[in-house]
Amino acid sequence: MSAPWLAEVAERTVAAGLHRAPVARQANGSEINLASNDYLGLSTHPEVIAGAHAGVDAWGTGSTSSRLVVGTTQAHLDFEDDMARFLGAEAALVFSSGYLANIGAITALVGRGDLIVSDTGTHASLIDGCRLSRARVVVVDRGDHEAVRRVLADRSEPRALVVTDSVYSVDGRLAPLRELYAAAREGGATMLVDEAHAVGVRGPGGRGLVAECGLAGSDGLIVTAVCSKSLAAQGGVVAGSRLLRDHLIDHARTFIFDTGLNPAAVGAAHAALRVLMDRPELPLRLRSNAQRIAAALGAPAPDSAVVSLIVGDPVAAVTAAGICRDRGVLVGCFRPPSVPEGTSRLRLTVRADVDEATLDLVADVVRDALAEVGRTDVETVR
Ligand code: PMP
Repeated sequence: MSAPWLAEVAERTVAAGLHRAPVARQANGSEINLASNDYLGLSTHPEVIAGAHAGVDAWGTGSTSSRLVVGTTQAHLDFEDDMARFLGAEAALVFSSGYLANIGAITALVGRGDLIVSDTGTHASLIDGCRLSRARVVVVDRGDHEAVRRVLADRSEPRALVVTDSVYSVDGRLAPLRELYAAAREGGATMLVDEAHAVGVRGPGGRGLVAECGLAGSDGLIVTAVCSKSLAAQGGVVAGSRLLRDHLIDHARTFIFDTGLNPAAVGAAHAALRVLMDRPELPLRLRSNAQRIAAALGAPAPDSAVVSLIVGDPVAAVTAAGICRDRGVLVGCFRPPSVPEGTSRLRLTVRADVDEATLDLVADVVRDALAEVGRTDVETVR
């Protein structure tokens, strides 16, 4: 039994080439996986696996309740302290996913009668946070700090929040953080920066683009990060002042009413953070791997670990990704609504733990697959 309109919607989705089907990946090792967010390859690192085991051994398989009841363990608090230090913030708070961290932070900071300035490149979790907040939302072009300045100057609302990704998830390009922060401060706004694709990738020792721009610990700046990418686990983090942490504990509904992050994920993410702090060369290797594969494909040098190759038509993009899969290479395939109409694409998310010969092989497979669907030119931005 299901809703009567589902069949009709399904037919339309399939006809538009937008149906999605999760495909089980093979056990580690049998495929070359450049579709994951495991940027540093730490999800199979022995110390990270041991961290997950240690979390379970000490605290069990679940956190057993929301953080405010009995779902907070010493492991959560220790991880929060280390994440805050790593990100150069006073304090941090862990949520059970990056998605929930963004929604929780935005809705706790602004509400009806306030203003949010967002942009056209923000991740779905920021968009949903904006919608759920009931604040007035103005969307400007990605990176348009002059527009941010204008919107803030023209506002009537007393409170305003600027939200942006630092590394845009779809094409891996960077937001002009310094300019955006200056615009936010001049306009009396707070700024929230999602560093999901920047931690472990950009900045000194992988501390993110905020740190690279010299903005870590700045007034009125809130950073969100995820444990699901470079930190190879699951969970989300909001970092900022101590006052912010206290405020989120009292007001962020996705913190208050959600079960605390499970101990295995806390242990794994904390272990991954320690590996990253011990090995600052990992982000550098990741960036040079991304540059190598982009060069082999004739694409411009990427700013991050994401190499985005526009196909255009969604069916052609799925076909190209399928060809790569059949040849043992997993690449991401993004279609609307994840990307604008007409810009369906392959998205390679490069890793630090792949050798040069493998990268060159991937480039050959991807180039052939694109040619087989009629794309012989390389287009990365549209
Ligand atoms: N922000 C960005 C920019 C993301 O790409 C993602 C996830 N893919 C999230 C937030 C959500 O993080 P999580 O998957 O940990 O919920």
